[in-house]
Amino acid sequence: MSHPHPELGTPPKLPKGALRVTPLGGLGEIGRNMTVFEYGGRLLIVDCGVLFPEEEQPGIDLILPDFTTIRDCLDDIEGIVLTHGHEDHIGGVPYLLRLKPDIPLIGSKLTLALIEAKLQEHRIRPYTLEVQEGQRERIGVFDCEFIAVNHSIPDALAVAIRTPAGMAVATGDFKMDQLPLDGRLTDLHAFARLSEEGIDLLLSDSTNAEVPGFVPPERDISNVLRTVFANAQKRIIVASFASHVHRIQQILDAAHEYGRRVAFVGRSMVRNMGIARDLGYLTVPAGLVVDVKTLDDLPDDEVVLVCTGSQGEPMAALSRMANRDHQIRIVPGDTVILASSLIPGNENAVYRVINGLTRWGANVVHKGNARSTSRATPRPASCCTSTTSASRRT
Ligand SMILES: [Zn+2]
Repeated sequence: MSHPHPELGTPPKLPKGALRVTPLGGLGEIGRNMTVFEYGGRLLIVDCGVLFPEEEQPGIDLILPDFTTIRDCLDDIEGIVLTHGHEDHIGGVPYLLRLKPDIPLIGSKLTLALIEAKLQEHRIRPYTLEVQEGQRERIGVFDCEFIAVNHSIPDALAVAIRTPAGMAVATGDFKMDQLPLDGRLTDLHAFARLSEEGIDLLLSDSTNAEVPGFVPPERDISNVLRTVFANAQKRIIVASFASHVHRIQQILDAAHEYGRRVAFVGRSMVRNMGIARDLGYLTVPAGLVVDVKTLDDLPDDEVVLVCTGSQGEPMAALSRMANRDHQIRIVPGDTVILASSLIPGNENAVYRVINGLTRWGANVVHKGNARSTSRATPRPASCCTSTTSASRRT
């Protein structure tokens, strides 16, 4: 593996009583978040994500954090704290556990369920410690406290790491939605309490930090969705992250209200929504969700398909539909909703997909045109709005 700074050499031996923090990915890039905390010869890792390749990186499936510096000290790792279940925070875990499968994973119920399902595909059964907000756990020499944060995936946590050298706080990705669908707010009181105690190092992250103003509440999106549903004459195809449980909840609610059935399309979407439903994060009215094959027997105006591909990912269902490389064939009159924020850097890929879908006759609704598409609504369109927070995806 090439090293970006060969001139730096090996870091010095850590002085006694010192804490060293080493990011192995995620700085200056959107993805592969991974930070190593080192104290007294022991290591605690926060997150282990993947980075998705750019279009000028053909043939590359995933980009991992650089494990080189920890490869020789895997026995020193006390555990991996996973702040939330997005791929750019958990996607690298299987590749690290392949090197040492018994490194414990620490995270919330949903986060652990998502990574366990992923690890099952790699035939790894991890050691896990489920934690929730307000909980404090000693993980080896690291005294960890977990704090609720709101994000575009439920059950996200920040972590305060206390060591004799000082306290570091890693926020993970977060937003400040004051009216979240699940009522679980970012716990500002906890952050205030920690700051009074004295935070020595704050590690925080915010995509779109340069965009001023407030993030519209997640629940505002339901108005736009309902207007689009009210006007759609034929099938509705919604592309979203396979982890955006609250957004998909609103799609299910709109489908239910407008008498449509829903099928999930694509492996990660089917798997994650099954987990979210089983654990009670997704509420699905009886009979609403059906197998994709069942949809063939229904009229077009009673059908919703929910798939991945809102970022133009070439192998995701939506890109393949745009390329006529998917069993679901786009026909004139279909409505396609891109129901996730456009992550900076993905513009070309996304517009290529929009062009493809439009060419087959679909009416494509996305952030750029949601306002006019849903002009029947009295409220401003906020479909596909950006979040303050971070994360590349699912
Ligand atoms: Zn995230």
